[in-house]
Amino acid sequence: MSTIVFVHAHPDDEGTATAGTMIRAAREGHRVVVVYCTDGDPGDVPDDLAPGETVVSRRRGEAEASAAITGTARVAWLGYGDSGMTGWAQNHTDGVFSRADVNDAGRRLADLLDEENADTVVGYDWHGGYGHPDHVMLHKTTLAAVELAARRPRYLEVTMNRDLMRQMFTLAAEMGMEGFDPDTRGDDGNPIGTAEAELHWAVDLGDDVMTKREALACHASQTDVKQLLELPVEMFPFAFGTEHYIEPGRPPGMVRGWWVDDPSVGRPTSVTPR
Ligand SMILES: [Zn+2]
Repeated sequence: MSTIVFVHAHPDDEGTATAGTMIRAAREGHRVVVVYCTDGDPGDVPDDLAPGETVVSRRRGEAEASAAITGTARVAWLGYGDSGMTGWAQNHTDGVFSRADVNDAGRRLADLLDEENADTVVGYDWHGGYGHPDHVMLHKTTLAAVELAARRPRYLEVTMNRDLMRQMFTLAAEMGMEGFDPDTRGDDGNPIGTAEAELHWAVDLGDDVMTKREALACHASQTDVKQLLELPVEMFPFAFGTEHYIEPGRPPGMVRGWWVDDPSVGRPTSVTPR
């Protein structure tokens, strides 16, 4: 059994990205840890905020609720603020994640990896799927942490399968659904996700996909999550039923399988203390 640390930028990112992998890994007896780099402030302010309740406390509660559903053993926070999307005023606020010193952020994450004696860490691809400044920063931070950790963990990056998304968006547009552009570009102007040819793992979630939806639903204070939950429920497995990963160092070719049980390639065979 291993300890797998999933690093996410915002409380709700696990719900669309890695929740299915977390559910299965936890069920199979692995220790699953989630780290959120930001506290989710400023997120959408829910209408039903109780007196004394803040967006941060609400989103922390939502993250804990999601963890209870996925079987995640620990929810940890790196302590940065949310930078917002490119161009938002908070891009320039002190304490936001995208403005952090990468070595400082990497050190915070490495300390957590050391504390957990992590076997595996999962970060984001180079543009965090769609170029959100915090997602880009997460990529850099996780790479730094892998180098700084006392024991170098196995390293993977979650991303979206660009070719699959093109197919889905094309189909949705053909069905007359609005808001789906196959040529959609991310926050950074780049095509979203990663081409299938550059992926290494496709994890099919099977029935776990509906548990993933329950985990996502914990974050219902956020408008973009609410919109996903409003999609016809039968579309959810189609859109979120497979989770895609890059494992740098593996030979090219996407394998449909379960990387948790197949560490043979891409993992350092000996562990050298640093
Ligand atoms: Zn995010």
